[in-house]
Amino acid sequence: MSAGPLRVLSIPMRTRFRGLEHREVALLEGPAGWGEWSPFLEYDAEVAAPWLACAREAAAGDWPDPVRTHVPVNVTVPACDPERAHAIVRAGGCTTAKVKVAEPGQVLADDEARLEAVRDALGPAGLVRVDANGGWSVDDAVRAVAVLDQAAGGLEYVEQPCASVEELAAVRRRIAVPVAADESIRRAEDPYRVRDLEAADIAVLKVQPLGGVRACLRIAEQIGLPVVVSSALETSVGIAAGVALAAALPELPHACGLATVQLLTDDVAVSPLLPVDGVLPVGAPVVDLAALSRLAAAPERVAHWEARLAQVREVEAR
Ligand SMILES: [Mg+2]
Repeated sequence: MSAGPLRVLSIPMRTRFRGLEHREVALLEGPAGWGEWSPFLEYDAEVAAPWLACAREAAAGDWPDPVRTHVPVNVTVPACDPERAHAIVRAGGCTTAKVKVAEPGQVLADDEARLEAVRDALGPAGLVRVDANGGWSVDDAVRAVAVLDQAAGGLEYVEQPCASVEELAAVRRRIAVPVAADESIRRAEDPYRVRDLEAADIAVLKVQPLGGVRACLRIAEQIGLPVVVSSALETSVGIAAGVALAAALPELPHACGLATVQLLTDDVAVSPLLPVDGVLPVGAPVVDLAALSRLAAAPERVAHWEARLAQVREVEAR
């Protein structure tokens, strides 16, 4: 099905993320270029199958026509101290910041101080969104959003305040700040559940877990919610697929979460997809063959990914 062998790469992370110090990804080359298949290592073949569909679509050059040439992106601020948050926003060159909150071991005052620093760094015209990664109860979320909305001088939205779709729906009915669903959307059927329970104002879509650019475009048409395209911590090859979705959406009212190549210490593109003036260019990046050699994973890791690929093909053949 996929042309050519897998190129398995191991790229050191700049800081630990999802408990990872290295990001392992597989690239495959097709008639039109490269696709990235990078399901996280704990995912089984069933879950990893749509990620492969996304890679094949990219390698086949089967993306919808773009309606814009650039995609606005946000800078991401981890759950760090205010000084570091300020510096990250200043260095990010973006007018929208996504700030991680509700970190285990921290208190609301930590989030409050971080948000005040982010607003100071962005200036009054910038947009600030927070991402709780499901860390609050419904009551905690209602209380925290009121405090953080004040600290930020207005929030664009709150992403995944609680873990479940039912809780998102409950929070949404009690706060004025818009709610975005991220972790609640992991499989292709999830966005419809979010819609049917009226659990969110915004849907965060990731192209790999949802089966590719065209699959996401169909979801976006059917759920009737504004979409924010986000990454799964890909190299520039995988990020380009997210950019292709963002570029093809009829409406793109919010900046996307696609400025994540900077979380990796190295990349596979001749010109890595890093934001300039808060935007990423649309189009497939040119892959640097020297980088594929430089970042090549150890032979036993290549064997592991080839075994994963064989398992996904078995799932597909069922
Ligand atoms: Mg999120």
